[in-house]
Amino acid sequence: MTSDSTARRRILTGVRPTGALHLGHYAGALENWLRLQREYECYFLIADYQVSDYADDLDRVRESVIEVALDWLAVGLDPNDSHYTIESMVPEHAELTTWLSWWVPLGMLQRNPTLKAEMADLEAGKSVPVAFFNYPMMQVANILMPKAHLVPVGDDQLPHIELTREVARRFNRMFERDVFPEPEALVGRVARLVGLDGDAKMSKSRNNAIFLKDDEATVTQKVRGMFTDPTRLRATDPGHVEGNPVFIYHDAFNPNVEEVNDLKERYLVGKVGDVEVKTKLAAALNTFLDPIRERRAYFEAHPSEVREALENGTARARATAQATMAEVRDAMRINYLDRLR
Ligand code: ATP
Ligand code: MG
Repeated sequence: MTSDSTARRRILTGVRPTGALHLGHYAGALENWLRLQREYECYFLIADYQVSDYADDLDRVRESVIEVALDWLAVGLDPNDSHYTIESMVPEHAELTTWLSWWVPLGMLQRNPTLKAEMADLEAGKSVPVAFFNYPMMQVANILMPKAHLVPVGDDQLPHIELTREVARRFNRMFERDVFPEPEALVGRVARLVGLDGDAKMSKSRNNAIFLKDDEATVTQKVRGMFTDPTRLRATDPGHVEGNPVFIYHDAFNPNVEEVNDLKERYLVGKVGDVEVKTKLAAALNTFLDPIRERRAYFEAHPSEVREALENGTARARATAQATMAEVRDAMRINYLDRLR
C-alpha cells in the first residue's frame, strides 16, 4: 500500500454477475470509473450476494464473475491500482448488512422505486426471494464498508445511494461518531441507455444489449435489427431523431459529430434510409469496440492474470472490511465478553 493510496478519496461501485457487460454499462458507469481510477482509490465490486433472482442458474453466476472481470480488464481498469472485489469472498459484507438493517424500516425499502420496478418485473415470472428484497441494504453495506465518498453509477441506482446516505446519518447519530461519510452519486454521460428494442434500459437480463465482447458481425447484425422510428414507413418519410435509439447510440458512441449531424438533418426530412444510418452506426460501434475486444482476447488467453486481479483486489478489500467492522463493533460496543473480567 502506497501512502498515495491511503490519502486518496474512495470510490465503491459494482456490477451484478448476471452476464457480460454492455454498452449501457460503458456509457452509464465504466467511462466514469476509467476517468477517475487514478484520482480515487477504487473498489470495484462483483456483487454475487445480490443475484438471488438467478438462484436457479448458478452456472451463469459462476461464469459471469469471470466475464465481468474480463470486461473490466478489457476496458482498461487497472487492477494494480484499483481493487477488483468478489463480494461473497468478503463475508463482512453480509455481517454489516445485518447490523445496518436494524436501522431501516420496512417501508423505506417498500417505497424504493428501483426495487419496486425490479420486483414487479420478477413477480411476472416467479416469487421474489427475501434476499432480493433486501439487496439495496446490501448495497448500502457495500458502499459504507470502504467508507466510499463517491459512487459512479447509472441513474437506476440513485435511490440506493440516497438510502445509503440516510443509513450513514442514522448510524453516526445513533452512536455519536463519524464512522461513515455520506457518499455522493455520480451518474454517467448517458444516465440510462435504451435497449436495442427501444426498451427504457439496455440490460443484461433483457436480451436487448450489445455486449462489449460481441464480435463485428454480431454487432452489425444487432444494429440491423434495431428499433428506429416506428412512425416512419419509407425512407422518404420525414423521421424523428429525438428518442430514436439509433440516434441515441450515434450520439453516445460515434465521435464523428459531423457525420451524425448530417444523418440527423437528412433523416428529419426523409433524405436518408435506415440502412445507411445503421451501417454507419455499426461501423462506429465496431471501431469503438475493437481495442476492447483485443485486450479481452489477451486476458482470455492469460487466465492467471485475471485470477491474480481478483485475488489481490479481494484480499485488499477484505483487509479494509475488517478494519471497518472493528470500528463498527467498537461504536456499537459489541464487546460483551469484556464485561466478564
Ligand atoms: P441486471 O439486469 O442483471 O440487473 P444490469 O444490466 O442492470 O443487469 P447491473 O449489474 O445491475 O447491470 O448494473 C451495473 C451498473 O451499470 C450500475 O451502475 C447500473 O446503473 C449501470 N447500468 C446498467 N445498465 C445501464 C444502462 N442501460 N444505462 C446506463 N447505466 C446502466
Ligand atoms: Mg441491474
